[in-house]
Amino acid sequence: MTKPVILTGIRSNEEPTIANYLGAFLPIIDMQKKFSGEYQINMFVPDLHSFNTPIDHTALYRNTLNNVKYFIAAGLNLDDPSTFVYRQSFIPAHSELAWILNNFTYMGEMGRMTQFKEKSSEHSESVTVGLFDYPVLMAADILLYNAKYVPVGEDQFQHLEITRDIATRFNNKFGDIFTVPDNTANQMKFINRDNGLRIRSLTDPTKKMSKSSSDVKSKILLVDEPEAARKKILSATTDSLGVINFDWETQPGITNLLQMLAILSGRAQDDVNEEWVGKTAYGDFKKAVAEEVVKFLTDFQAKLNAITDEALVAKLEVSESAMANVANETLLRAQRVVGLRP
Ligand code: ATP
Ligand code: MG
Repeated sequence: MTKPVILTGIRSNEEPTIANYLGAFLPIIDMQKKFSGEYQINMFVPDLHSFNTPIDHTALYRNTLNNVKYFIAAGLNLDDPSTFVYRQSFIPAHSELAWILNNFTYMGEMGRMTQFKEKSSEHSESVTVGLFDYPVLMAADILLYNAKYVPVGEDQFQHLEITRDIATRFNNKFGDIFTVPDNTANQMKFINRDNGLRIRSLTDPTKKMSKSSSDVKSKILLVDEPEAARKKILSATTDSLGVINFDWETQPGITNLLQMLAILSGRAQDDVNEEWVGKTAYGDFKKAVAEEVVKFLTDFQAKLNAITDEALVAKLEVSESAMANVANETLLRAQRVVGLRP
């Protein structure tokens, strides 16, 4: 197994939105189509990361399986022999390595993590050690598999850099134990993206659509009833200018809908703009967008419902057994040099 490893995962803390689908699921599937054969793709569900902020624990196991189902419904090919799909907690080496790495990570550097500062103020009623420490577990997630490419959003750049710092520090002390993943600039070059897609909230288009938002009208869930989703689009916040224009500054609501329409219908943005820009009937425009959303959800949910737990769990178990071997090899190298194993 000498192919360079691309590693990616999405937390299953809440039901994913259409924004997660467009911004995260589709790019991974494109990567699989583009790179399969040349690279190994590790698509894992970071279930241990899912409850560093409060969740409904009775839903976690189900959500973890559903997370993989969403990827399959979106087009991930499970039969690709160089793609591995696994659950983090099914490979205990993740937590074991994280514990070792904790002792080579400094409070000072962890205290600088923006995500921790932001999330701890959001959930100030229960700021856990898990929330503080999760970047170290994330470092273990990456280093166990010798991953070179870890395509992450901007919010995760700092965590990728701390992974590189921890790995380099460990290697300097103990020799060549870990593969240091590429820096964030190279990661962006690799996925050929300079600005990420940002779908906006339907109720406040100055903000992004977020799965954890408590405002249900702001987001379209992948499991929303299509007719309920239609209503959300029809009542989406726009503006009082009265003429359709593609302009994020002055008409973010309308522009967000123009963007969604283009991506969902598989048409070029210019083409969609040509059809709608200059028109004044917001109602007709929203109906067209809503129709496309309904079509998308209906089709997606049909695919989702056709995926059985059996097929899924079979793939997970094969991947988990193969990946546990790789992870255990890396863990053993680390255990040896720190003196835990002969
Ligand atoms: P949360 O509110 O829990 O942070 P989220 O919707 O922001 O949820 P994340 O779990 O943080 O989702 O991110 C999952 C993936 O979805 C990431 O790759 C992220 O870049 C992508 N993503 C999140 N929101 C958007 C958005 N509005 N537009 C495009 N991509 C998005
Ligand atoms: Mg987020």
